[in-house]
Amino acid sequence: MDMESLIAEWGGKLPPGFVRPVGPRTGRSECKFKRCRNKVAIKRDGTPAHACQRCLDRRARSCKRRRAALVAEGGCRRCGYRKRLEDDFLCQRCRGQRDAERGRKRQDAIDAAAIVEFAAQPERVHRASNLDCGVSIWNGRQKPEPSAAYWSPLPDPEPKSQQLWRQSPWDDGWRLSRR
Ligand SMILES: [Zn+2]
Ligand SMILES: [Zn+2]
Repeated sequence: MDMESLIAEWGGKLPPGFVRPVGPRTGRSECKFKRCRNKVAIKRDGTPAHACQRCLDRRARSCKRRRAALVAEGGCRRCGYRKRLEDDFLCQRCRGQRDAERGRKRQDAIDAAAIVEFAAQPERVHRASNLDCGVSIWNGRQKPEPSAAYWSPLPDPEPKSQQLWRQSPWDDGWRLSRR
């Protein structure tokens, strides 16, 4: 399966160059235009069109004339219905669309170049690294942290009044007391 077919399949379309099998043309319906009894034309992809080839051509010529007249009056070259800007042949909206399309194409080209560059790299043997072996800072053991018990120990079982070393037998602290 080639790339074009893959792209067409993902897009839900037929690949370019695919010719639909043409069935029997006897059951073609009539042209939708008034006062025209011709059979409808067959489009390039094999499906029947809504009008005969003569009417289609006439319609296309009419659209071309109308568009040419609009452009001659200062209409946009692309849509024909809005006035074109000064110093440009497109209207504001068509210019924005054109810029968007150009940006899209440019980005597509950049992506394609990146893909081609990646595909052009020679295949290398995969060598196991430390990360593959599981040696990583994210797999390391957690650092020991001081727990709450360290910062707020249990109350001293010995009452302070019995801790004789807190009081000097010769100094009762009279200098520190308020009188
Ligand atoms: Zn017709
Ligand atoms: Zn326009």
